[in-house]
Amino acid sequence: MNRHTFLIYAVFWLAIISTIYYQQTLEIKSSSQDLIAKQTDMLVNHLIKLQQEVDQYGMLYALVNEQGQPNALMPIPESDLQTTNGQILTRVVPVCLSHKLSSVNAETSHIQYHLVSLNPLDSNQKPDDWESATLLDFEKGETNKKTISNKEGTSYFRYMLALPVDVSCIKCHTQQNLNDKTPIIALSMSMPSSDLDASIATHLKKQQLFYFIITVFGLVVILISLLNHQKLNRRLVKAKQHLKLAYMDVLTQLPNRRYYDYFVKREWKRAVRQSYPLSLIMVDIDYFKNYNDHFGHIQGDHCLQEVAKTLRHYFRRAGDLIARYGGEEFCVVAACDADQAKLLAETLRIAVESLQLPHPGSKVSAFVSISLGTATVIPNEKMSYEDLLQQADQCLYLAKQNGRNRVETFKMEAN
Ligand code: GH3
Ligand code: MG
Ligand code: MG
Repeated sequence: MNRHTFLIYAVFWLAIISTIYYQQTLEIKSSSQDLIAKQTDMLVNHLIKLQQEVDQYGMLYALVNEQGQPNALMPIPESDLQTTNGQILTRVVPVCLSHKLSSVNAETSHIQYHLVSLNPLDSNQKPDDWESATLLDFEKGETNKKTISNKEGTSYFRYMLALPVDVSCIKCHTQQNLNDKTPIIALSMSMPSSDLDASIATHLKKQQLFYFIITVFGLVVILISLLNHQKLNRRLVKAKQHLKLAYMDVLTQLPNRRYYDYFVKREWKRAVRQSYPLSLIMVDIDYFKNYNDHFGHIQGDHCLQEVAKTLRHYFRRAGDLIARYGGEEFCVVAACDADQAKLLAETLRIAVESLQLPHPGSKVSAFVSISLGTATVIPNEKMSYEDLLQQADQCLYLAKQNGRNRVETFKMEAN
């Protein structure tokens, strides 16, 4: 993992956390609003129930005293009774009872509710802007509305419910000049939401802290993984370098004898399993001792490097290999038949000769040349790759004997 990957992971992590945080914040807000809406529903149901109860009794009488006339808003004709001891009782209209309850409630819990209409009985009870707009919506068919809005600088949860208006209601509302149009009367309730806001804020603060810790923790974990990964990578690179050194000939940069042994065993097994021909080619520089004697060992090393570079050029397939066998000898493993091996050996010979590296000590050419011995077999379990190597070596010896700068081929048939 590099820095770039770390950044991608970090951004990904932050995106996940932010999304979850955003979702949860919305959920907290909406569930708190649901809660207050449910409370309001309960209160409204309670009020409606109370009103129905009063309606059921048909009559509820209250004392008219110096504190006032209970039905000041909506006086009912012939509603007063006199008790035997001379006290005046008046029949209370349920709606006036609600008004009374509302004012008591507003003092103690700041919950306010009252009936509203676009054409109120009491001109002082005019609906505010939100109530007016909601009443207009109710005229179009809506029956309730809930919102959080600002009222006189304070945040309130506001609720309005359209009330069914029946004939008995209209009787008392005659003074409103209704013109046959059924009035829309609604219960308007407002509850201060500051407590709710404060509770949401506390909740959100706790949530912010929690998500901050989670985010930092996640980033630290990603960072630690990055550092560990980098450490492992460095170790891996070192291990690879060691491995390369263990299997690489430093002078020629070709695979060394150790790798050749591993490779030939592996390819031999594969050829046994799949029954295809395997060829070995032994390569030896001609009169190299004389070369060293003439140019010195350092120049001899350069010559070895040049020859190795040229030979390596012909080995690109995964099943083929050229390795430094030792000294000025190279060996080739190739998954091909005898003809192809001979052709390959000849190609290598020409390639080295074409380098035209001057070789005054050579008795066969003016330039550095190589001799090659090839052997091919379709291997089976009874054979050993060492037999094949011996055959190739014998052919190399033959090539030397027959004059050098040449290819000798031996074909070993499978039993
Ligand atoms: P032939 O044609 O029969 O192969 O003769 P030759 O002289 O090449 O063979 P010989 O085995 O007599 O000599 C091999 C020489 O290769 C001897 C040694 O000094 C040289 N040699 C082996 N390894 C290296 C090396 O890494 N660097 C240098 N410069 N010379 C090396
Ligand atoms: Mg040799
Ligand atoms: Mg030699």
